[in-house]
Amino acid sequence: MKKIAVLGSTGSIGTQTLEVVRANSDIKVVSLAAGSNIQLLEKQIREFKPVIACVFNEEKAKELKERVADLSVKIVSGMDGLVETAIVEEAEIVVTAVVGMIGIRPTIAAMEAGKDIALANKETLVTAGHIIMPLSKSKQVKILPVDSEHSAIFQCLNGEDKREIQRILLTASGGPFRGKTREEMRSIRVEDALKHPNWAMGRKITIDSSTMVNKGLEVMEAKWLFGVEFEDVEVVVQPQSIIHSMVEFSDGAVMAQMGTPDMKLPIQYALYYPHRRHLDGKRLDFSALSQITFEAPDMVNFPGLRLAYEVGKTGGSAPTVFNAANEMAVSLFLNKKIGYLDITDIIEQAVEEITLIKNPTLKEILDTEQATYEFIKGRWSD
Ligand code: NDP
Ligand code: MG
Repeated sequence: MKKIAVLGSTGSIGTQTLEVVRANSDIKVVSLAAGSNIQLLEKQIREFKPVIACVFNEEKAKELKERVADLSVKIVSGMDGLVETAIVEEAEIVVTAVVGMIGIRPTIAAMEAGKDIALANKETLVTAGHIIMPLSKSKQVKILPVDSEHSAIFQCLNGEDKREIQRILLTASGGPFRGKTREEMRSIRVEDALKHPNWAMGRKITIDSSTMVNKGLEVMEAKWLFGVEFEDVEVVVQPQSIIHSMVEFSDGAVMAQMGTPDMKLPIQYALYYPHRRHLDGKRLDFSALSQITFEAPDMVNFPGLRLAYEVGKTGGSAPTVFNAANEMAVSLFLNKKIGYLDITDIIEQAVEEITLIKNPTLKEILDTEQATYEFIKGRWSD
């Protein structure tokens, strides 16, 4: 029996992880964590019977405790609670599906406790990759990618020698505003940006996909996961989202992983790696597929991707500023406090403004996050 912890169980990746669990009888959920959605969390607790569950919001945690008083589950809250659910003794794999940098501490704690990580929470790797990757080596724990592109690359690398990687070809759909100029994007509303052409995801990553900041975060994620240089990660726009990413090797061979867009595939692959097993769902029908097309990404109208390469190459705390500025700007946009183009403007200004720390400790990463929030608060929010 495989035992897993699911952090962010009420979200898009979290609920799809639980669908994979439902379809397999040899996997058990031992802990769950959410931010505040106790309605759904209570249902999940009753169905999956974990030993412990965390609600980050303290008030909501109290309410949940009363609601599940008839069960033996332990209810915890806050950052300490989130860490406790990540290091619960029974768990072998921790699925990190919380959104944002909040995932750093529980991920590090889980690794220190010897757990393998099924990583969806890319913000953690972007900001603390220089801590996470060496830790995975010293603790001999696996980082199994859940992000579809990185899972595709991971699958293409099966049985290969990483030293023979020439280029990583990270595919992108281009999002709902592909082909538009910045001027045309000025009046985009929240409702427009929340419509992704191929994937149904959480709100924050849907906005990130539309600005191509998501692809920028994924470039940095790829650098850490596969130990390559930024020059060797090329973004290829493939609007139909059929090729989930590719690897070019030193002899010129290119391996691609294809499939219909379904996050359950990379989730299941991470949970059962190196084994494959049946997954219900639509299959690619090549006779019905009219075309797979390719374009270069537009870094002029989508400056988020250009900035990501820049902060990635700068390194140190620069990716943290990029990421924290994006998290806050997206939240301001979703709350209709700023315009659409302000998102990347805010990132650019924060990156210019906040002091660079070369090799930040965990505390310095979290301090940089706060400094970035303070900088933005002072200028853009009430
Ligand atoms: P969602 O917004 O759908 O879900 C986020 C989850 O995190 C929810 O369960 C939420 O709980 C929980 N959460 C939020 N804040 C806290 C907190 N402080 N403590 C504990 N739990 C918290 O996000 P997604 O599932 O879309 O994304 C999750 C991660 O996976 C992100 O890093 C994203 O980039 C990555 N990812 C997502 C993909 C997708 O297809 N969705 C694809 C590839 C990567 P609550 O519901 O209570 O708010
Ligand atoms: Mg992705």
